[in-house]
Amino acid sequence: MNKPRNIVVLTGAGVSAESGLPTFRSKSGVTYWDVIEDYLGPKSYRVEDVCTPEALAGDPVLVHRFYDARRAALAGVAPNAAHIALARLDAAWPGELLIVTQNVDDLHERAGATRLVHMHGELRSALCAACGARRPHAGDLPPGSVCPACGAPALRPDIVFFGEMPYQMARIEAAVADADLFVSIGTSGAVYPAAGFVQMAAHYGAATLELNLERSAGSSSFDETRLGLAGVLVPAWVEEVLATG
Ligand code: NAD
Repeated sequence: MNKPRNIVVLTGAGVSAESGLPTFRSKSGVTYWDVIEDYLGPKSYRVEDVCTPEALAGDPVLVHRFYDARRAALAGVAPNAAHIALARLDAAWPGELLIVTQNVDDLHERAGATRLVHMHGELRSALCAACGARRPHAGDLPPGSVCPACGAPALRPDIVFFGEMPYQMARIEAAVADADLFVSIGTSGAVYPAAGFVQMAAHYGAATLELNLERSAGSSSFDETRLGLAGVLVPAWVEEVLATG
């Protein structure tokens, strides 16, 4: 490996799979229904039923219940070897580093990562639909919960729904443009804009590496793909990259 200086790491659901959190295509491999069933029971829901602004407006009880269940599940899981290795990289890497996660769990920060962006929001945060305030939130979040900042009964899960703008895109795009190494871990490469970061990184001259259980949708865009468990591949890659520093 050439000696990189500026690194961007993109993570997806696969990095948390070995902690026990289901990915979005866990069983059938076709839809997101499997994971929704994991949290809401055997009736099948479409992703549009729980992950769009229209769903929140149409059935807020169902949408809040889905994210309440996922928030509650965080209490029973812990960071795995991949999160721990990335936190070690964060602490030790002398150059620029940004870990961009699509995950709404808090396992990267519980492992100790600080140079971290949650581009799709956070389960342990509430967003006021009236004033835009975001604040840490634990426990269930019933529809109509009152925002402490503005008093409106408008708190919602702080999740970026399909059709909404991910957080901190300007910061992420600047980091990707400056990166000389872009590494994608545990993501199917199916959801934009994150799925396009590899092309952007390559356009600006970065080397690109994919660490995933299987080839992702954008696999051919990467210079190198390593297939296997994140809990094995990520610690090995972190040691490799730290050895270049
Ligand atoms: P994904 O489930 O689509 O893909 C996970 C990837 O990780 C797969 O390619 C899989 O092969 C791989 N993987 C599984 N286990 C692994 C392991 N142990 N080690 C390494 N790789 C492993 O998840 P994604 O790519 O993160 O999904 C993209 C985004 O879609 C999500 O971040 C989310 O924002 C969005 N989404 C949200 C909802 C919602 O309810 N809010 C629903 C569906 C999708």
